[in-house]
Amino acid sequence: MSKIIAIANQKGGVGKTTTSVNLGASMATLGKRVLLVDIDPQGNTTSGVGVNKADVENCIYDILINEVDPQDTIQETRIEGLHIIPATIQLAGAEIELVSTISRELKLKKALNAVKANYDYIIIDCPPSLGILTINSLTAADSVIIPIQCEYYALEGLSQLLNTVRLVQKNLNPHLKIEGVLLTMLDARTNLGIQVIEEVKKYFQEKVYRTIIPRNVRLSEAPSHGQSIITYDSRSKGAEVYLELAKEVISYE
Ligand code: ADP
Ligand code: MG
Repeated sequence: MSKIIAIANQKGGVGKTTTSVNLGASMATLGKRVLLVDIDPQGNTTSGVGVNKADVENCIYDILINEVDPQDTIQETRIEGLHIIPATIQLAGAEIELVSTISRELKLKKALNAVKANYDYIIIDCPPSLGILTINSLTAADSVIIPIQCEYYALEGLSQLLNTVRLVQKNLNPHLKIEGVLLTMLDARTNLGIQVIEEVKKYFQEKVYRTIIPRNVRLSEAPSHGQSIITYDSRSKGAEVYLELAKEVISYE
């Protein structure tokens, strides 16, 4: 059975892309067949696994707008078992172009249905908004992982996200679940992090992953080398925690 997981939070900079790339790479390292789907026009997941956006012929845009066969967009990465549907800046136009399209919320779901059987996990890296691209992702997904940065105002804006999840459940995808809540970028040197952890746990309770992602310089360096943490520095704390997270997510199959 394959599982489609959207990584979503309309706040930028909370660790969606870092989590998509490194959770995906970790799962593949553990022997799972993983497809990353980059649906953020910034294309950071795409470049983050070493795909040169300038060389991309067909991307997620062509799936959503031009009905290109998803199989014709999938690329391999340097990690065995880790594939990607890339995004380029072309996707920035999709939000507006989709408005006049029939069943515009279902485009991604239909496309992923065609390739789902080839993978154990499909991980969708959402853009920092609650627009039609995120709605497509939540409609296609079995579940959603919400990364929350261990910072002031960590819970701010979350009610909007949860509202969107409820709307999608009600109208488009009744079986959508919250897979888990991931605390990211914990700075162990401050008390603030501890307070945020308590606050988030009070709110989401058992949905919060045991694994907490600390700040780790190697995690922030890896993307500029077009690599996940697994190949960039397999002995770093960042690699250790994302492998731990992968095991935790897999255990909730
Ligand atoms: P989002 O996709 O939610 O916008 P990113 O994953 O791109 O967030 O993260 C925002 C920035 O923070 C990036 O520069 C990324 O490299 C950095 N970053 C993310 N997680 C960590 C971490 N655990 N430690 C250090 N830097 C991180
Ligand atoms: Mg991102």
